[in-house]
Amino acid sequence: MRTIGLIGGMSWQSSRLYYDRINQMVAERLGGAHSAKIILNSLDFGPLAKMQTEGQWREAGAVLANAAQALERAGADVIAIGANTMHKVAGQVTASVRIPLLHIGDALVKELRGDARSRPLLLGTRYTMEDSFLLDYLGNKGIGAVTPDKTDRDALHAIIYDQLIKGIVTDDARATVRAMIDKSGEKEADGVIFACTEIGMLFPPTEVGLPGYDTLELHAAALVDFALA
Ligand code: GLU
Repeated sequence: MRTIGLIGGMSWQSSRLYYDRINQMVAERLGGAHSAKIILNSLDFGPLAKMQTEGQWREAGAVLANAAQALERAGADVIAIGANTMHKVAGQVTASVRIPLLHIGDALVKELRGDARSRPLLLGTRYTMEDSFLLDYLGNKGIGAVTPDKTDRDALHAIIYDQLIKGIVTDDARATVRAMIDKSGEKEADGVIFACTEIGMLFPPTEVGLPGYDTLELHAAALVDFALA
């Protein structure tokens, strides 16, 4: 079995979901007492979140590149960035190591294409919804994702940073995000992408009234495929 090098802490709420899901999938596939070989490099999200707000992406990329190098030195066979937003610096991370980076968009694209989705609603942080790094990643593969309107994007961003990354899950937040998804019919969305690794804390992607795609789940499954290949 190959060793997964996970850059986590972005947030630690989702890192523990990665850890659980990767281990559960390995146990299901191999049976017995099997579990995943994972090296977790869990970062302090405080300084990183500040760098995001201040637009210091190069600096944030350097922090992640160092984390990736430490994982490579520790014996990881593959690097995973355990968040969507920080894939904005995926290129910097890839360039810093010899082992591959398994991009969160890869498994997502495969799944969306398999289901012939071309216009999914993409939910994530403001960076993921408003910058081009993930939207273009999908767009280049023929998937024209749509995003909520500005007021909804701001509300979702606040829910992620003020609540979910702290482990706070409220019915209000659930209702707000559900309402955003319900409105997506106006944009003719044919699916919903949880492009933030904390959104699944609100409700599972199977309960959104449209075909749902949770990037954490898909990323974890792709990592398990890699580890067991
Ligand atoms: N985990 C998040 C994501 O998937 C948000 C926190 C972050 O900015 O990394 O985008």
